[in-house]
Amino acid sequence: MTESPTVAIVGAGMAGLAAAHYLAINHIDFEIYEASDKPGGRVATKHVDGLTLDQGFQIVLEDYPELRRLTAVSELPLNRLYPGVYLHDTGNPLLLSDPRRIPGTKRQALRTLATLLRIPDWRSAGRYLNKTQPTIKDLGALLPQPLHDAVFGPLFRGITADPDLTGPADFARFVLKRLLNGYASLPTGGMAQLPAIIADGLSGHIHYLHRAVSVASGQLTLEDGSNVQADWIILAVEPPALGSLLDLNLPPMRSVGYVHALSRRRLFGVPAVLLAPLGSPIYTVAPMSDIAASYVNHDPERHLITASCDPTVSPGELRAALTAAVNCEPENLEFIELGVVKNALPRNSRTVSEIGQHVLLAGDYLVSPSMNGAIESGRKAAERVIRTMKRPAKELTIDG
Ligand SMILES: Cc1cc2nc3c(=O)[nH]c(=O)nc-3n(C[C@H](O)[C@H](O)[C@H](O)COP(=O)(O)OP(=O)(O)OC[C@H]3O[C@@H](n4cnc5c(N)ncnc54)[C@H](O)[C@@H]3O)c2cc1C
Repeated sequence: MTESPTVAIVGAGMAGLAAAHYLAINHIDFEIYEASDKPGGRVATKHVDGLTLDQGFQIVLEDYPELRRLTAVSELPLNRLYPGVYLHDTGNPLLLSDPRRIPGTKRQALRTLATLLRIPDWRSAGRYLNKTQPTIKDLGALLPQPLHDAVFGPLFRGITADPDLTGPADFARFVLKRLLNGYASLPTGGMAQLPAIIADGLSGHIHYLHRAVSVASGQLTLEDGSNVQADWIILAVEPPALGSLLDLNLPPMRSVGYVHALSRRRLFGVPAVLLAPLGSPIYTVAPMSDIAASYVNHDPERHLITASCDPTVSPGELRAALTAAVNCEPENLEFIELGVVKNALPRNSRTVSEIGQHVLLAGDYLVSPSMNGAIESGRKAAERVIRTMKRPAKELTIDG
């Protein structure tokens, strides 16, 4: 194959797809080269025996600004989670609802919060204000300990897969705002339906099973030995892949464990996520089929739950911890899959986004460990090309 698109994009994850989308609406020709056989990268789903199994626990935050800009996403059939969380309490998990969105739960929310609110330690506020780059842990230290231990700590351990909460406080504030302003949802066909709907609009320009093996200004070499000449190259691959393409030593990414299990009875009263206590190797548990019945093919006899968890803990311990977290008899839980997503989330490694003559980078690691961060990085890479080509930009706000 010898192709010479204006822009060659390596990687069809959310970052590469977003870059392609913005180039497409600005009439700039591009081709995407993707090593695997499908779009989405880390946003992946498989369908096994009537079950929809996402690659670990993932959700769409409808209020992500980058998602709202992608018009195709408005066509995605979404199933909303209950606006609230189950807090783990010995015996029965306690439900903390958002009283603004679930009328009639104000009293109960106040009662729950009353058990969690204590006078905070003001010294942590001083420490926070004195830091130039406060971490999520610093932000959490501003809260009363019971509120931190029951809500904030477990929530961000689950979101970042980092029990030490070393990520930037800005990211936690951003996510909290999205959670309070909008709904978390699951697409009816599984998380992979989200990249698929973006990829649909780019069809014919994505070359699956085309791995890039080397890159130079203006030229990509693919695994089959063919070359692609391009005015611009956007490398939208995850850090380990970028490291091997450019022969760089980049920080390793975080891994996260997951468990998919079936129960014969409904384990949750409402379709909300359960936050496991900080001492448990289970981070969060989500009643997937209560959120979207399509995840079990609408079979009322099967209840699918997905947990995210410590990737270093043995399957035996995870089984016991999950059974305890959902307060279920062991014989009632059928474990479908326990696994680890390696290279799940980047550490905080802000890198330059332009690394040579017309060679750009895109990927969540440049902005934030989220789909929103990945899409933003792809959009910005596209904007860089669009600016240089002096084409009128449609639907774009060009930053900076
Ligand atoms: C278990 C888990 C749970 C998550 N939960 C959430 C969540 O709830 N909400 C949220 O917002 N985010 C979540 N995330 C994070 C989110 O999925 C990622 O931030 C985002 O998808 C990263 O997109 P990306 O395009 O930067 O990278 P990737 O998705 O990694 O895409 C990179 C692509 O490049 C391809 N590639 C690599 N090397 C080559 C090569 N040499 N040639 C060609 N192609 C190549 C890969 O095959 C891949 O398709 C989660 C991630 C995981 C793993």
